[in-house]
Amino acid sequence: ETSSDYCYSDRQLIRQLLKQPGRFSHKGDMGHALLLAGSYGKMGAAVLASKACLKAGVGLLTTHVPRLGYGIIQTAVPEAMASIDRSDILLSEFPDINGFDAVGVGPGIGTKPNTITAMRELLQALNGKPIVMDADALNILSQDESMWELMPDNAIITPHPGEFDRLAGPSYSAFERLQKAQQFAIDMQVVIVLKGAFTAVINVDGHCYFNSSGNYGMATAGSGDALTGILLALLAQGYSVLEAARLGVYLHGLAADLLLQQMAEEAIVASDIISKIGAAFQ
Ligand code: AMP
Ligand code: MG
Repeated sequence: ETSSDYCYSDRQLIRQLLKQPGRFSHKGDMGHALLLAGSYGKMGAAVLASKACLKAGVGLLTTHVPRLGYGIIQTAVPEAMASIDRSDILLSEFPDINGFDAVGVGPGIGTKPNTITAMRELLQALNGKPIVMDADALNILSQDESMWELMPDNAIITPHPGEFDRLAGPSYSAFERLQKAQQFAIDMQVVIVLKGAFTAVINVDGHCYFNSSGNYGMATAGSGDALTGILLALLAQGYSVLEAARLGVYLHGLAADLLLQQMAEEAIVASDIISKIGAAFQ
């Protein structure tokens, strides 16, 4: 580690973050995560994020989906418990937060008014629980600035450059965007995972950790949803927001790097990345 504003997260620094669960751990020790994801036509995002969450060591996962997603999530991810929304096609409510250790919201949820209202209520109910927000949850945040007042201290947001620009306005270079994100993290007191090649994990003090793993094969549909699942799993296991962001981003990239032993970047799909999460932990 250096005292400068920038640090390069290499394998050795990341290894120090990894906790070793004991022989006597039970699933209650590994955390119970709540994921809110999916809508009509985007149930794949809920499936991918759920699978990645389970592969990243969570003890229990409940995935909240619209009614149309019931059969999909139960069939595609039998390890997850399903919580079913009253709406057929989108998220319009959220389950009781009590009993969950961490919350993830965003993949494939859309930005319809009912979903915006539900997200506001979710943030109000968090009561100090850590949260990771991605994808449409970020698009909702960029439409409704007043929601920032409800953000808890221990939140991670995971924008790709387009999502970040919607939140903070356009940038004319990657460096300008990075500097803006550092200020944004300080102003909003939120950990930012600014995704791309060499993803930047930015702490609430503006300190920036560049990730060293990953390849351009990750520029593929659903790749970010897998990351959301990994981060949610780490938060549920008790990692701090900064530790979860640094470790999760590294493992996600390492999983994709391990795939290169079997296939070219072009062939990588999100499910392949998820299949290597276990090897990445090893
Ligand atoms: P999303 O755009 O939400 O699907 O997220 C894409 C994921 O792939 C993020 O974790 C990015 O950091 C990663 N990614 C995209 N392009 C690259 C790249 N060229 N090199 C490394 N990682 C990438
Ligand atoms: Mg995404």
